[in-house]
Amino acid sequence: NNNSGDSIRRRFLKFYESRGHKVLPSASLVPDDPTVLLTIAGMLQFKPIFLGNIPAKLPCATTSQRCIRTNDILNVGLTSRHHTFFEMLGNFSFGDYFKKQAILWAWELSTLEFGLPSHRLWISVYENDDDAFHIWSHQVGVPVERIKRLGEEDNFWTSGVTGPCGPCSEIYYDFHPERGYADADLGDDTRFIEFYNLVFMQYNKTDDGSLEPLKHKNIDTGLGLERMARILQKVPNNYETDLIFPIIEKASELANVSYATADEHTKRNLKIIGDHMRAIVFLISDGVVPSNVGRGYVVRRLIRRVVRTGRLLGIKGDGRGDLEGTFSPIIAEKVVELSTHIDSDVKNRAPRIFEELMREELRFVQTLERGEKLLEEKLTAAVWNAENNKTEPCLAGEDVFLLYDTYGYPMEITKEVAEERGVSIDMNGFDIEMEKQRRQSQAAHNTVKLAMGNGANIADSVPDTEFMGYDSLYAKAIVQS
Ligand code: ATP
Ligand code: MG
Ligand code: MG
Ligand code: MG
Repeated sequence: NNNSGDSIRRRFLKFYESRGHKVLPSASLVPDDPTVLLTIAGMLQFKPIFLGNIPAKLPCATTSQRCIRTNDILNVGLTSRHHTFFEMLGNFSFGDYFKKQAILWAWELSTLEFGLPSHRLWISVYENDDDAFHIWSHQVGVPVERIKRLGEEDNFWTSGVTGPCGPCSEIYYDFHPERGYADADLGDDTRFIEFYNLVFMQYNKTDDGSLEPLKHKNIDTGLGLERMARILQKVPNNYETDLIFPIIEKASELANVSYATADEHTKRNLKIIGDHMRAIVFLISDGVVPSNVGRGYVVRRLIRRVVRTGRLLGIKGDGRGDLEGTFSPIIAEKVVELSTHIDSDVKNRAPRIFEELMREELRFVQTLERGEKLLEEKLTAAVWNAENNKTEPCLAGEDVFLLYDTYGYPMEITKEVAEERGVSIDMNGFDIEMEKQRRQSQAAHNTVKLAMGNGANIADSVPDTEFMGYDSLYAKAIVQS
């Protein structure tokens, strides 16, 4: 099948290989860069080259990079396009070709190699990037009605709080051209999907936030493999592509439900499992072990969410004695089976991955059962109180903290369950309890602090040992000793 996920990956790499790019392997999900928590984009392994710290051995390269974006965790299954784990296909120029060539190739790849009808393609450029606008309209011939100038948030790409960055230009696919040009909003997920981002990497953002020009002008691009697969396979969302759907089918089988006839809520839960299991398998494969800090907490949180979601779906494991009732290793087997084209090493590491998963699932089920009982009591009390006092139901900060601190019950699950029941959470009260405890335990041990991309230091509002920076794309790990 010419439009299978595997062949889309192959075709992309081949397209750029035959245009002088060297095909390089994906880097690990654990970056060789102390300032970044996880690999969020294809450019990360080339950062020192872009910065001019090490010379480029090649003029240009192309990769399929496995990526993790924890900032998209709550989008999973809600939008049709976001994953925590995905593959980013990229072409990179290290001071070689620049804007015009990158745009021309991206267009050729999209329209000729992948055969997307040009009238369905829309373009965004950075608001003051007249150059890019002109290339798209005059050289490529895209009607100006389909070229949008967007601001910094969408069209100025930065690789982190500091580091290489520049204006970018994105290509969107239009599922509903019949809706016309008036009021078209590229952010409308029901109509458009962004699939290719071309970054014109020409500045270094320094500590004080200023932009200093890089020695060379570079190109850094990212095309979402799952998104292109979704477009070409003509399925309603990324999850139903051949890259992910077999995992969802496995989960459906264990839950004894049929995806096709399931309600939206069940579908979303199946998508969460399909998404998170890929992230989990590749994180463990790249050496991340579940723990309460940094990367370890990312994988721990993902496993916990899978386990909880599986229980909601009624998944029990299929009675395999070797797994002690756990189900996550069974789904992980499917991920491994699908993974050989993503990373051939995963197969060899599979036994360790399954073992780690089983252990973590067993541990969490215990925590879960104790916490669930207490949370249930507290929620019932909150609802009862609200009814009697004619107020909105709210879970007290102390209770949230008790669950979190004494019971080890994950905060995000408390939030999710409360939300499902229409009960809000007194976060202020929680923060006060947290602060109290913080002051009590300012022990001198190693801490992992995580800063947010927008400069706010969330490490100041969370305990030193717990990673909570999921909302940040550029969660930064600064290990202090
Ligand atoms: P979006 O606006 O849809 O969140 P983005 O602008 O954050 O995407 P970029 O940082 O430009 O994404 O990344 C380059 C490409 O990687 C995107 O055009 C898209 O194809 C893909 N991509 C980004 N985030 C995700 C994700 N969470 N899941 C799947 N693919 C993604
Ligand atoms: Mg995004
Ligand atoms: Mg975007
Ligand atoms: Mg983008």
